[in-house]
Amino acid sequence: MTEAVTNWAGNITYAARRVHRPASVDELRRIVAGAARVRALGTGHSFNRLADTDGDLVSLAALPTAISIDPQSGTVTVGGGVRYGELAAHLHAHGYALHNLASLPHISVAGACATATHGSGRHNGNLATAVRAIELVTATGDLLRLDGSHADFAGAVVGLGGLGIVANLTLAIEPAFDVAQYVYHGLSHASLTDNWAQILDSGYSVSFFTSWTGPDIDQIWIKRRTDRDNPAVDVDAWGITAADGPRHPVPGRPAHNCTGQLGVTGAWHTRLPHFRLDFTPSSGAELQSEYLVPATTALAALDAVDRIRDVVAPVLQICEIRTVAADELWLSMNHRRDSVAIHFTWIADTAAVAPVMDALEQALAPYSPRPHWGKLFGVGPDELRGRYERWADFAELLARYDPAGTFGNDFLDRYFPR
Ligand SMILES: Cc1cc2nc3c(=O)[nH]c(=O)nc-3n(C[C@H](O)[C@H](O)[C@H](O)COP(=O)(O)OP(=O)(O)OC[C@H]3O[C@@H](n4cnc5c(N)ncnc54)[C@H](O)[C@@H]3O)c2cc1C
Repeated sequence: MTEAVTNWAGNITYAARRVHRPASVDELRRIVAGAARVRALGTGHSFNRLADTDGDLVSLAALPTAISIDPQSGTVTVGGGVRYGELAAHLHAHGYALHNLASLPHISVAGACATATHGSGRHNGNLATAVRAIELVTATGDLLRLDGSHADFAGAVVGLGGLGIVANLTLAIEPAFDVAQYVYHGLSHASLTDNWAQILDSGYSVSFFTSWTGPDIDQIWIKRRTDRDNPAVDVDAWGITAADGPRHPVPGRPAHNCTGQLGVTGAWHTRLPHFRLDFTPSSGAELQSEYLVPATTALAALDAVDRIRDVVAPVLQICEIRTVAADELWLSMNHRRDSVAIHFTWIADTAAVAPVMDALEQALAPYSPRPHWGKLFGVGPDELRGRYERWADFAELLARYDPAGTFGNDFLDRYFPR
């Protein structure tokens, strides 16, 4: 089948000659074995050409939605085409939860883990840290299972689609929990600095939203677990006030697209994402970039953004600031460092955004930012290499698993040349 396929944002038209939607893992294996160049496509929510190929693009969306819970090991095994929204509903119906979710439930589990997609929470690793095993279709069409006992596992989980096509993932689960979500206004930048640690510790997941236009952080979203977080937080001390109704993080967008707020308790999967599965997430017409800096330098990095706010604000819809715990996954943006993620939802204008992104990357450079693999960035391989301890190990892994470059593409070949 030949068709023009674009990413969710519409800023990328994939260059693939053919698009496949196999209905079984065996069919997937045959497609991969017969392809010279092939890439997996998740739900296409990445903003750059990471998923692209000039050969065969394979979507796993038509594979059976296999979800299998193993209470003994506390894990769930899901097919590579499953989206978080479907998985979360299934888990909750059986009394289980994942430790965290991204801002939207629309994305595929395999695509999200391949780019170290994250939610927020000082003690919450990114979504890929829940992975306990992956089953890969390798370049020969063979199936290979890697679990935590395998020496290559920590390199393969955030694999950028370069080692093979993930047909199944096994993820850690925990008992289902409830969350109450609160939105506040009026946090001054001075209060943010003074009360940073206390605010971050006031919920399971905390997000700050700012348009970098006024004196205040526009909104703080605090998601509190009802089974462990203290509900009696003295927010008055921070000079903030509770929103008087539901809010959307992007100014002017409808709040009914968002998950329940106003402190109304709900199941974990109906509160941890900001956006509801049955509505358009975020603004819908946008580009995105995100830079993850060490938590220890986060306030200085935010000051650096503040200093160029007049450059940033005109092309910005909203900036979100979140926290992510350190992990051991080689290409995770959180590898061995507790991180603060500084995210930018830009206007949908590549030409206008590009020079601003460049200025932002220069401003943030002293803080060794790791750009989100699935979003727009300009940092080249020479600079980025030095920001990852296991960069060379990952390059070696790619060369060993895929010597002919079957899963390569321009993006991957630029950062990890053979
Ligand atoms: C509105 C919006 C909100 C977002 N919010 C967040 C957020 O809160 N936090 C965050 O961290 N990110 C966020 N993102 C970014 C998004 O989570 C990542 O880009 C993620 O990778 C998208 O998953 P996907 O299934 O669409 O993957 P795709 O974009 O389709 O693919 C991403 C990569 O994964 C690979 N891949 C996909 N499936 C497989 C497979 N089966 N086997 C091997 N490789 C595979 C692809 O080849 C590609 O390299 C957001 C994006 C959008 C559009």
